[in-house]
Amino acid sequence: MTPRLSPTPALSVPLDHGALRDQFPILATQLHGRPLAYLDNAASTQQPREVIQAVSAYHQQYHANIHRGVYELSRNATRMHDYAREVVAHFLHAAEPAECLFTRGTTESINLVAATWGRANLRPGDEIILTELEHHSNIVPWQMVCAETGACIRVIPINDDGELDLAAYHRLLCSRTRLVAVNHVSNALGTVNPVREMIVDAHAVGALALIDGAQWVAHGPTDVQALDADFYAFSGHKLYGPTGIGVLYGKRSLLEAMPPYQGGGDMIERVTFAQTSYAQIPNRFEAGTPHIAGAVGLAAAIDWLEAIGFERVAEHEQGLLKRATERLGNIRGLDIKGTARNKAGVISWVISDPPLGTLDIGMQLDLRSICIRTGHHCCQPLMDRLGVSSTARASFALYNQLAEVERLADALEEIITAVR
Ligand code: PLP
Repeated sequence: MTPRLSPTPALSVPLDHGALRDQFPILATQLHGRPLAYLDNAASTQQPREVIQAVSAYHQQYHANIHRGVYELSRNATRMHDYAREVVAHFLHAAEPAECLFTRGTTESINLVAATWGRANLRPGDEIILTELEHHSNIVPWQMVCAETGACIRVIPINDDGELDLAAYHRLLCSRTRLVAVNHVSNALGTVNPVREMIVDAHAVGALALIDGAQWVAHGPTDVQALDADFYAFSGHKLYGPTGIGVLYGKRSLLEAMPPYQGGGDMIERVTFAQTSYAQIPNRFEAGTPHIAGAVGLAAAIDWLEAIGFERVAEHEQGLLKRATERLGNIRGLDIKGTARNKAGVISWVISDPPLGTLDIGMQLDLRSICIRTGHHCCQPLMDRLGVSSTARASFALYNQLAEVERLADALEEIITAVR
């Protein structure tokens, strides 16, 4: 039997928020003499006890290298890794676990597609469509492969609310389009993009679609088959799981036709000095010893989140976003960046009156034990479009409280008043 490290106790209905917070040991931390208000979840979420314990139990009782040992310990570790892939496939509604590759995270997932599918398929004159909202992880790999192949990048602009200009997208789509690569949710502004419609449009001109789901998977259900996504990427550490583990979903027919990514152990069928044949998917794309504990932790995180249910996740996080938008929107001199109609729990802003650098805002909030992100959020082209070099950003997770939103807004008012 597969050792299962993540029992999924169903939480009470309605959500017992105090009990939920208690599952996150780090949230009891005090910094600068005040309780931690962790509002940087788009960068990385914290981990519940189920995940921490699953990883710890793996290390304490089950660790061995997988796929190699004839002994029971190794067979069990292999089963746990296989089980983690099944959990991921179920979570994404993939047709089968083999379509879900383990990677180090979203960045590696996108680089894998660029390096294998891209090198094998792109030709001079081919076009890849990106958007002005993309994270550098969904820009730079394409620039690199375009430099090698002679393909080029086209960019869908946004409107002043931070929404994609879909009319411009339709104008860009043509017979030269080979791939549309777009984030499901913008990490900098929170815009939820209409990826289902965009995939239909991409397919209509014969192009593939890659969705960067880094900022979506923890906030709403994902069904790669209903989306008809060709590739879908995400990271474990933005989904209440460990760092160093992520997923690339790809349709079987595409993955099977792609050359391997890295060479080494586990990805081969037979090696001779004259010729090497490769393993079937998913192993073909997973050279070397994988992050077994990471996969175990990711499965525990998914089990934990699914036991809560996305309806409750969305309801709670939208409540936080609504209150944050009301409070920050009423602060004189504070300008919210990104006012799309369909937003995830992310709010970005700058303070221009009095002029306050985002770094100063972040440091002042840190003194009050409020953790937010400041900077360009790995979205420098988007910052250029917004006419700023950086923003301050708060991003919410299931464990955040309305009281933390009030604390953030009160602190910002205090900081501005002190400078005025
Ligand atoms: N794409 C988006 C939209 C992101 O927000 C991030 C991380 O912030 C990434 C990609 C990169 O994720 P990772 O650093 O986990 O590879």
